[in-house]
Amino acid sequence: MQNVVILGATGSIGASTLSVITNNPNAFKVYGLVANASVDKMLALCVQYQPQYAHMVNERAAMQLKAQLPSGCVTEVTTGAQALNALVTDSRTDTVMAAIVGAAGLVPTFDAVKAGKRVLLANKEALVMSGELFMNTAKASGATVLPVDSEHNAIYQCLPQQVQDQLGYCDLNANGISHILLTGSGGPFLNTDLTTLSAMTPAQACNHPNWSMGPKISVDSATMMNKGLEFIEARWLFNTQKDQLKVVIHPQSVIHSMVQYRDGSVIAQMGNPDMRTPIAHCMSYPQRIHAGVEPLDFFKVGQLSFCEPDFSRFPCLRLAMQACEQGQEATTVLNAANEIAVESFLAGQIRFTDIADVNHHCLDSVQQTRLASIDDILQLDEQARKTAKSFINALN
Ligand code: NAD
Ligand code: MG
Repeated sequence: MQNVVILGATGSIGASTLSVITNNPNAFKVYGLVANASVDKMLALCVQYQPQYAHMVNERAAMQLKAQLPSGCVTEVTTGAQALNALVTDSRTDTVMAAIVGAAGLVPTFDAVKAGKRVLLANKEALVMSGELFMNTAKASGATVLPVDSEHNAIYQCLPQQVQDQLGYCDLNANGISHILLTGSGGPFLNTDLTTLSAMTPAQACNHPNWSMGPKISVDSATMMNKGLEFIEARWLFNTQKDQLKVVIHPQSVIHSMVQYRDGSVIAQMGNPDMRTPIAHCMSYPQRIHAGVEPLDFFKVGQLSFCEPDFSRFPCLRLAMQACEQGQEATTVLNAANEIAVESFLAGQIRFTDIADVNHHCLDSVQQTRLASIDDILQLDEQARKTAKSFINALN
């Protein structure tokens, strides 16, 4: 029985994780649930799963939750950074699902890595910000990091065991691997007339053709910044050199990514687009469990198609690939700028195409700094947010 703590329990990945747990009640126990401020959702989860701890980052939300918990519910409500650290590092916590959205997930995810936990990583922004430090820390603490992001989970499944065992430090070349093919659907605007892109609304951007996800990652999928963040994520997880990572557009999202070997073999992982598959894989690895996912029916799949990404349509993807080459400062700045830009777009303050302009502007402002600790990274993140906000103010 694994005790599981879910960071981001009230979100889309949180819900899929709880669904996998519900399907496998003898293997997993919900030990702790963490969310920002959604009291109603958290209340319902506490009643259903009776976790030991429910942690609300927002203090008022914690007070409201405490007041509303029915008597007889065993859950202890906590708030504050110290309590969150205590929960992820608790000796009874076996597994931490890192599914807070954005930079807000960095500290608790990193704390879990430092404590040597089994960390199921959905929060790609944490790795984009802290890449090298994150992988070094995992190596030092003995933490097991398993990639939840469907593409990275697919790649992981297509790699030989000895590479899986050396996440972050593997030598792809020595294992006969030519390169990794990171697939992406191209999102809702793959075929939209370029001249109309600037008028796209948040609702249109969030209307992903294949996946149902939270708002931030949905907008990132529409700009393909999501693929850019995933490119950086893959760089750290699989220790790729520049020409070992390629992006392929595959609109059907049946193949979730591929690994191409020296001898000409290409290994792909396929399935219906349902996050419960990679989540179940990570939760039970190296075993397999029921995820509750409808099996892939090849007679219903129809055609699988592929094309190269068009950077004039998806400038954010190019920016992310460029930042990846530049290094940690650039990826941290780009991630922060993008979070502010997406937030502003969702709030109706900027146009869809302004997102790339905000990101471009901030990336141009990157200076060499020493990022030796999480505090250094958070400081740079804060600075980049300010740059992004003042650029947005000037736009309006
Ligand atoms: P979501 O918006 O549905 O949920 C976000 C969760 O994070 C919520 O529980 C919310 O309470 C919590 N949260 C937000 N701000 C917080 C803060 N400041 N402190 C603590 N908690 C906070 O997002 P999602 O779609 O579930 O995505 C979560 C993460 O997983 C993201 O990093 C995303 O990139 C990644 N991911 C998601 C999917 C997907 O299918 N949804 C796929 C791959 C990767
Ligand atoms: Mg993904």
